[in-house]
Amino acid sequence: MEYEVVVGLEVHAELSTDTKIYCSCKNSFGSQVNSNCCPICTGMPGTLPTLNEKVVEYAIKMGHALNCEIHNVCKQDRKNYFYPDLPKAYQISQFDIPLCGNGYLDVIIDENANTKRIGITRIHIEEDAGKLLHDESFSGSLVDFNRCGVPLIEIVSEPDLRGAQEAKAYLETIKSILQYIDVSDCKMQEGSIRCDINVSVRPAGSKAFGTRTEMKNVNTFSGAVRAIEYEAQRQIEVLENGGEIHQETRRWDNLKGQNFLLRSKEDAQDYRYFPEPDLLTIVVDEQKVQQLKDSIPELPNVKIPRYMREFSLPFYDANLLAENVEKSRFFEACAALGTVQPKNISNWILGDISRIFNEKSISFDDTSLTPENLVAMVKLVEDGTISNTGAKTVLEEIMFTQKSPQQVVEEKGLAQISDNSALQAIVRDVLDANAKAVSDYKNGKTNVVGFLVGQCMRASKGKGNPAVLRELLIAQIDAMQ
Ligand SMILES: [Zn+2]
Repeated sequence: MEYEVVVGLEVHAELSTDTKIYCSCKNSFGSQVNSNCCPICTGMPGTLPTLNEKVVEYAIKMGHALNCEIHNVCKQDRKNYFYPDLPKAYQISQFDIPLCGNGYLDVIIDENANTKRIGITRIHIEEDAGKLLHDESFSGSLVDFNRCGVPLIEIVSEPDLRGAQEAKAYLETIKSILQYIDVSDCKMQEGSIRCDINVSVRPAGSKAFGTRTEMKNVNTFSGAVRAIEYEAQRQIEVLENGGEIHQETRRWDNLKGQNFLLRSKEDAQDYRYFPEPDLLTIVVDEQKVQQLKDSIPELPNVKIPRYMREFSLPFYDANLLAENVEKSRFFEACAALGTVQPKNISNWILGDISRIFNEKSISFDDTSLTPENLVAMVKLVEDGTISNTGAKTVLEEIMFTQKSPQQVVEEKGLAQISDNSALQAIVRDVLDANAKAVSDYKNGKTNVVGFLVGQCMRASKGKGNPAVLRELLIAQIDAMQ
């Protein structure tokens, strides 16, 4: 029998606010164990929490980005459970009225930028718990409370995802949006994004959902893919052998590549949720909600298909440009000038410009590059005035001096020689000096022409027109005995 794999995801993302959600402790990673906590975030008797306004703003921004309704009047609730990393024995979260609900996300599922709409059930705010440290040299476990009170949003999807690859595309889109609107640094290695994964299977074509299981705290996207594939296969095997699936929580072990039964699934009632008595109702005025909505830029999942449509860019280029706010802004400013091929602009931004940025750890603001002078340079290449090699020299100059491309071309004498008689002489010299390459060519190794063009370019100090040189080379070799 064919099965369909149904997945719903709960993504926990740490918000990048300056301070924690209910106290003024720094919201930072990597401090010395138990040095970044206070009586409030460790829940000492007699302390009172105060909600960090930025947490609400960041969560509303994500709500807008995922097309949610914003519940601008809502409350916080206590979720009661015992665990050694939770000194208060409850977590402040949101139960029946989340800050954001009923949204959707269009996820790009292939390289033609076709999208699939995934329902977003809710986004709520909550505090993170501490962390247990298991030390081999020690017969117990240690606890670090630094993470207590770090602000989180939990983004819950509808069970609209089918299979591991769609789930991965969804996770990557969520991550790119969190970074794009600047509410989370999404450092996976620091556990900034973790997800709980709900998986069920059903016979292909069936409308009813199968019984689902949940895997908690998967903290890499590749781990999520493997966990989903493993669990789907496990469930199919159980069903094929006449068994039934039980609603339960299973622990994914990424090293073993297996999951294990943790406990039968707890229900909401097990947590004895009740309204948090120490905090006021959250009230955000409509004007603020609208202002946050207006602050959301066009997002990568919308930008990518538009770039492919409007500028005829391949998916690869559109994707790389769209995921970087500065690169996409610069690209659009160049394309708006309308005088050169958008693909050529993209090649320079994603190629040499990105390479220089990486080498020097800089960005556009650290250079004198403007859309006008990049486009002027691309134009010089397009009309054959300079070669690609010459353009690389021009680029370095216009990035780090105030000179115009035209000025650099004149000063450095970079204009290409397309004049045949001058190039003929260069070709003749190069062929004389490379008899072995000529005989290789005659013996069928025609790709040796690339090497000879390179030699001619060098002899012309980068000024020869490579297309013309290639023609002349082939013609002269063919004419030789
Ligand atoms: Zn604190």
